[in-house]
Amino acid sequence: MTDRYDVVVAGLGAMGSASAYHLAARGLRVLGLEAFAPHHALGSWHGDSRIIRELYFEHPLYVPLAQRAYELWEELERESGEPLLTINGGLMIGPREGMLIAGTLRSAAEHGLPAELLSPAEVRARFPAYELEDELVAVLDPRAGFLRPEACVDAHRALAARRGAELRYEEPVLAWEPDGDGVRVHTARGTLTADRLLLSAGAWTRALLPGLDLALEVERQVTFWFDPPADDDRYEPARCPIYAWEHTSGYIGYGFPRLERGVKAALMHQGETSAHPDEVCRAVEEAEVEPLRAALRKMLPGVASAPVRGHAVCLFTNTPDEDFAIGFHPAHPQVLVSSPCSGHGFKFASAIGELHADLLTEGTSRFDLTPFRLERLMGDG
Ligand SMILES: Cc1cc2nc3c(=O)[nH]c(=O)nc-3n(C[C@H](O)[C@H](O)[C@H](O)COP(=O)(O)OP(=O)(O)OC[C@H]3O[C@@H](n4cnc5c(N)ncnc54)[C@H](O)[C@@H]3O)c2cc1C
Repeated sequence: MTDRYDVVVAGLGAMGSASAYHLAARGLRVLGLEAFAPHHALGSWHGDSRIIRELYFEHPLYVPLAQRAYELWEELERESGEPLLTINGGLMIGPREGMLIAGTLRSAAEHGLPAELLSPAEVRARFPAYELEDELVAVLDPRAGFLRPEACVDAHRALAARRGAELRYEEPVLAWEPDGDGVRVHTARGTLTADRLLLSAGAWTRALLPGLDLALEVERQVTFWFDPPADDDRYEPARCPIYAWEHTSGYIGYGFPRLERGVKAALMHQGETSAHPDEVCRAVEEAEVEPLRAALRKMLPGVASAPVRGHAVCLFTNTPDEDFAIGFHPAHPQVLVSSPCSGHGFKFASAIGELHADLLTEGTSRFDLTPFRLERLMGDG
């Protein structure tokens, strides 16, 4: 005899915790399995802060998903009683003709959302930490801000458990196989069966799909915390919006105001890539901060010159086009595969948990998932 569940969720990070919450809310018998201890820094959801923004420069199709995510984060905040979301605005910074500014304005226009275009002087007058070089402009996204990822994951897990989900830690899924219309799941502690399996294992997703060979690449992403003088209040959340900035054509950096550990900043998609998370170097060399400092000098000089207080290595799971990967396994429709990352998935986790629950219970979602289909990552898509 093995235990039987309606849904097994493999991975309880950003997406898995939200999915367990929404599935349990629908009265399903849910088992969530997490490979590591409840709090770990090996995946993609640690590091104190995640940007949320509504004006999506990547593509306007993400805007409705972001709007649903805002609603659900606010609901989760109310239900959990925990502070999860801070709206302090966001500056999208770059050359006027660059992809970030053009894409942000396109999203605003397509969805009729407010977007203020600001010159360097206007930015400086309102947000004094920012000293943009003359050729740069900024668009203010008034609904942008940041989430507390550890608190968000904790809240989803706690409320999933309160609704009856069974959540187990330090029990990795090792393998799975179809079992009639259902699935048999082998873990480090035994075997169980379920009607459905959700693979939400982040950077480990590809390793759980032998034979599928999805074009998912793991990228090492280093973030740094800087420590400007404690009496300099220009970096406080109320005066310092989050930002994304196109520091080199096509390349984005991002950062946050001062939180408990300091002022966090990073350059995206500049890290080494690997096929498997175990191959990622977790140590950080002192000199690795220099490209970030050089880029920050052009818009946040006070941060660029501040001492480093800490760093973290985190993992991106990238698709070649940087859109998400969400879809049923092409040969086994009882298995839903989901990797909404490429470095920008966290903000959507609340909505993606709901979307997963819709797919797993009704087979459809109200969102257009065509850009996220797995087939495009399989060589013949
Ligand atoms: C440094 C950094 C900064 C980021 N900044 C932002 C941002 O500002 N805004 C934003 O929207 N997004 C951001 N992201 C992206 C976002 O964090 C990811 O898109 C999101 O965490 C992906 O969620 P996930 O559930 O797919 O993976 P994860 O959150 O990593 O969760 C996967 C979980 O599965 C577990 N697991 C792995 N293998 C197994 C197994 N075999 N069995 C059971 N469990 C397993 C892992 O331990 C992990 O806990 C950032 C990512 C990084 C790394």
